[in-house]
Amino acid sequence: MKIILANPRGFCAGVDRAITIVERALALHGAPIYVRHEIVHNDYVVSNLREKGAVFVEELDEVPDGATVIFSAHGVSRAVRAEAAGRGLHVFDATCPLVTKVHNEVKRFARDGYQILLIGHEGHEEVEGTAGEAPDVVHLVDGAASVDSLDFGPEDKLVWLSQTTLSVDETMEIVQLLKAKFPHITDPPSDDICYATQNRQVAVKAIAERSDLVIVVGSQNSSNSKRLVEVALQGGADASYLVDYAHQVKPEWLDGVTTVGVTSGASVPEILVQDVIKLLDDHGFHTVEVVTTAAEKLVFSMPRV
Ligand code: SF4
Repeated sequence: MKIILANPRGFCAGVDRAITIVERALALHGAPIYVRHEIVHNDYVVSNLREKGAVFVEELDEVPDGATVIFSAHGVSRAVRAEAAGRGLHVFDATCPLVTKVHNEVKRFARDGYQILLIGHEGHEEVEGTAGEAPDVVHLVDGAASVDSLDFGPEDKLVWLSQTTLSVDETMEIVQLLKAKFPHITDPPSDDICYATQNRQVAVKAIAERSDLVIVVGSQNSSNSKRLVEVALQGGADASYLVDYAHQVKPEWLDGVTTVGVTSGASVPEILVQDVIKLLDDHGFHTVEVVTTAAEKLVFSMPRV
């Protein structure tokens, strides 16, 4: 009985940078440091930072005047930035540069008179931040069914953009529907689905076709982690589950299984993956084969903290 371990998996450059910003802010400025929304969508990371003195809030009105606040890796809307500036809050922005890139595309296309069809999940923080750059001209496309309700004419300048952490295959299906309905729609200047999301999906596909079961380590509110479960199932795994921690792996999932694929989302520390491997070892899965589909070297520069 063996484990096939996907590579790349786990932390991406944007998550690494965001966590480092909170840790540096705590070290240099002392607790409490306020963080608007979970800095990254991972229970273990958020719990650890909370223990060190980070205070996670939903909105800025929970942050006292004059305090330091960090914007999460998912980015914030224009209105949130303006509110922070208006209240004189001391801000460190941990927005992933690849999310900022999409914000800049929204600003540019809005300025050039486009209606922007943003493919993404309603209610996700990243989508709220991105749409909030130009709320009057951004239209959310959440799933193929929502294409039906879009109503534009040939005179409307249209462009599609997307959330960074979507399923590549599903997004391309939606784009085909958009192009069929609006043949004049413009493509984005470059991929919005980020390198880390794409690489982890390619890697999980490579292990899924050889696995009876794929365990994805990640939190339920992590978009890219949830997409890995879907891609594993589409890629040929008989079953796939998302777990935050090794103890959530149910022994019955392993009944009759001889090969388990393991991967993790972009916000997941490697220690949590190693815990799952240890648990599988305890259940007789003693061999680990690593399947590598890409090498990642990207590192983002840090803002001044
Ligand atoms: Fe940035 Fe992609 Fe990582 Fe999100 S998943 S933080 S967009 S690199």
